[in-house]
Amino acid sequence: MPSSPRLPLPRGSADAASSAAQARASLPSVDRLLRSSQGRALSRIHGHELVAGCARRILATLRERACEGKLASEATSDEALAQALRAECDARLAPRLRGVVNLTGTVIHSNLGRAPLAEQAIEQVAAVAREPSNLEYDLEAGARGERDAVVERLLCELTGAEAATVVNNNAAAVLLTAAALSRGREIIVSRGELVEIGGAFRIPDVIRSAGARLVEVGTTNRTRADDYAAAIGPRTGLVMKVHPSNFAIEGFSAAVGERELAAVAHAAGVPCVSDLGSGALLDLSRHGLPREPIVREAVEAGCDVVTFSGDKLLGGPQAGLIVGRAAAIERIRRHPLKRALRVSKLPLAALDATLRLYLSPERLAERLPVLRLLTRPQASIRTMAEALAEPVAAALAPRFEVGVVELASQIGSGSLPVERLASAGLAVTAAGGLRSARADSALHELAHVLRALPVPVLGRIAGRRLLFDLRCLKSTEPLLAQLPALARALRP
Ligand SMILES: *Cc1c(COP(=O)(O)O)cnc(C)c1O
Repeated sequence: MPSSPRLPLPRGSADAASSAAQARASLPSVDRLLRSSQGRALSRIHGHELVAGCARRILATLRERACEGKLASEATSDEALAQALRAECDARLAPRLRGVVNLTGTVIHSNLGRAPLAEQAIEQVAAVAREPSNLEYDLEAGARGERDAVVERLLCELTGAEAATVVNNNAAAVLLTAAALSRGREIIVSRGELVEIGGAFRIPDVIRSAGARLVEVGTTNRTRADDYAAAIGPRTGLVMKVHPSNFAIEGFSAAVGERELAAVAHAAGVPCVSDLGSGALLDLSRHGLPREPIVREAVEAGCDVVTFSGDKLLGGPQAGLIVGRAAAIERIRRHPLKRALRVSKLPLAALDATLRLYLSPERLAERLPVLRLLTRPQASIRTMAEALAEPVAAALAPRFEVGVVELASQIGSGSLPVERLASAGLAVTAAGGLRSARADSALHELAHVLRALPVPVLGRIAGRRLLFDLRCLKSTEPLLAQLPALARALRP
């Protein structure tokens, strides 16, 4: 370490230089810090290795700061070092994947883990994680079983399909279906349905990766049954319909429904596949929500295979569900990629428990969090906003002002992209009529502080306001409990 700092010292401070040297000299050795009472207490809990690593890192940082002349003498007191050591150990052991408060207004948020699981599903995951299970063991026969069997019966019952299988996610479901039913052959898709779901899932790329060749038919806004019929030939492996997730084609448009498409495909002796994306297991309009395609209807319309996600509207774990005709599902299950894309016991346990909730449809809205959140009445959300407005305003004063506002939540994950749900929440604005650029940067700074809270809080910035849509806030507690920390972080 150089004895003279490379950075120029603050001007006029022989004093500062000598106090920096003093500060450096007063730093204990790693060994001494480990032998302090805090060092010994932490070592008893976490073991020597972890605590020693933390001690080395803290002291190295402090020494570096001393060299730069930036080390305050308070930072080297016994209490300060004890606290720093503890904080370093805590930070090192804190989970990296952790809960956040979703106030973005998007209920099924792909970046925030999509559907929250039902309590029943969480309990079953924990039980299966802890103990051995009959994952691939047929208890009746006392022999090796099929892992899909755990959920197949229920999936068939809920969708009217003859057979079902499960993979890691719906992207895998589409890939596997294309590979198993159409490798080396053509897959016919409407130009209006060559969608990108985000996160690099594009139908043309998936079809290519499956070793099939894409044949586009129709136009962006209109595709007719004749277009498909004319494209079917000896090299056709299947025709595929893809639900337009994340966007809507409006105005002069036409698409071919599942029933008509299945008839065209079957007349030519090729299978018809429908990728529903989200899909719903029951009619959401029953719950006052906009209608999303229902899996059972696609099956009844004659599709040989229907694929959909486990963690979108279904409200379960990440999974790709493949249901349909027994022969097609059997080919899919036998394909070598199935083994690579299979689902593990934890999501399978969650899926099993989630699907069983659908056996009591009248109770579903209370038990299934996704449905509970989507059907939450605006009045109840507004009541929560009114209860929070004052304490939040107090924590953010004097730099920000807070008001109760009506908002519009979205379902998310590509489901019903243009529909909105009447919601409510808080709008935060920069106080004192700050000019635009300053107001923007103040709001971004606030958003940053909120993300740095022990339980990060995520809102959304729109039109010079930071909005908290409270639809997904279960109780005011996680927010109220963090207000003191928030106020502290904002203090100049
Ligand atoms: C979401 C979606 C997918 C991908 O599903 P994941 O479960 O996210 O892999 C595929 N197709 C459509 C139409 C979708 O909406």
